[in-house]
Amino acid sequence: MDHFEIRDGAMYAEQVPLDAIADAVGTPVYVYSSATIRRHVRVFREALAGLEHDHQAPLVAFAVKANPNAAVLSVLAGLGCGADVVSGGELRRARAAGIPAERIVFSGVGKTADEMALALREGIGQFNLESEEEARTLSAVATKLGLTARVAFRVNPDVDAGTHAKISTGRSENKFGIAYDLAPAAYARAAALPGLSIQGVAVHIGSQLTDLAPLEEAFARIGTLIATLREAGHAIATADLGGGLGVPYDPTMPAPPAPAAYGDMVRRATAGWAVRLIFEPGRLIVGNAGVLLTSVIRVKPGSQAPFVIVDAAMNDLMRPALYDAWHDIRAVRPSGERFIANVAGPVCETGDTFAMQRGMDRVDEGDRVAFMTAGAYAATMASTYNSRALTPEVLVSGERWAVVRKRQDIEALIAADSVPAWALNEPTED
Ligand SMILES: *Cc1c(COP(=O)(O)O)cnc(C)c1O
Repeated sequence: MDHFEIRDGAMYAEQVPLDAIADAVGTPVYVYSSATIRRHVRVFREALAGLEHDHQAPLVAFAVKANPNAAVLSVLAGLGCGADVVSGGELRRARAAGIPAERIVFSGVGKTADEMALALREGIGQFNLESEEEARTLSAVATKLGLTARVAFRVNPDVDAGTHAKISTGRSENKFGIAYDLAPAAYARAAALPGLSIQGVAVHIGSQLTDLAPLEEAFARIGTLIATLREAGHAIATADLGGGLGVPYDPTMPAPPAPAAYGDMVRRATAGWAVRLIFEPGRLIVGNAGVLLTSVIRVKPGSQAPFVIVDAAMNDLMRPALYDAWHDIRAVRPSGERFIANVAGPVCETGDTFAMQRGMDRVDEGDRVAFMTAGAYAATMASTYNSRALTPEVLVSGERWAVVRKRQDIEALIAADSVPAWALNEPTED
């Protein structure tokens, strides 16, 4: 459920008409609903009821890569969420938003020694190691700093998450984690390294999962591994079950499993584990808490259907070009009439197409259109391709709203480049 609704003929974000935001800020613009974010955190936590360990609720560590906006992270910090980060930049954003270091988990296959040192000095809760090579580097960095790194290995359970290949991470051929069968030996060698304190196991098999069975299979394998590791003498106190739960993008398709069903499965799968559970939801928390608000520049006839050319493009919302993602596209002021159209942006790539032959609200030049479910993996993937300024972001709460990232200034974009004097006087040929 989200807080974007048509009221009196126009779409609102909570109590704010989207037209008011577009009039003030221009388009394209991302609009986030803080009530939706808060609701999703509450629903997710309710789904995890009964999973306390030592009177501690599981840690909900928001996957920052889904939406790293400082205002969004601050809302989540205020709710007591932790953060799953995948770079030094994300770590700094999470800390700047007030997320305590002990609630931060650091994932990713390519952590550099500098990023490790930053995370160690901050005192983060857990490093999710993805290789033995990484464990050796972290050991060296920690030893040099005189600090101890609390670590888990991310284990690749070799299950097929049944999602898009580009967001599937738990097959043996993917780059993520250490192979399941090699895990006991990796733990044994890591336990002998100075500066590391082994505390847990981690798994994350992919994103936009619409079936709980692969997750349950992965968790069952993790349960077996925890028992094996404990028999070998490792003190396993945490199990990080990752993120990945899907959200409904297409209202005509069956909805992904609800958080409550996920919680039931987790209770079943983790019974008797006696660990603090960590979850890393990203999309589930922010996916349908955002829309990309855009204007129709013109409607151009096409051979099969008209092209609705909007002022947002693949550089603003990359998911359709990157993963063939499907976003619901709605008129901000629907007339009730529908038509079949293609929706595309101004960028000079055929891939800059959001929808082909789509049955949608009829819109015309100057009308405003909202791309729904654009709160996750959307603004954060934006680029300046075609020298288009990065899109601003707005956060709504009730009747209040604020620009939480201003539109990039094109002059500043140009000024970021520099031209060496010698390049101005180059001969036409050597
Ligand atoms: C991307 C990612 C997540 C979040 O995935 P969602 O599908 O957005 O919930 C969690 N953990 C790790 C390690 C990730 O890479």
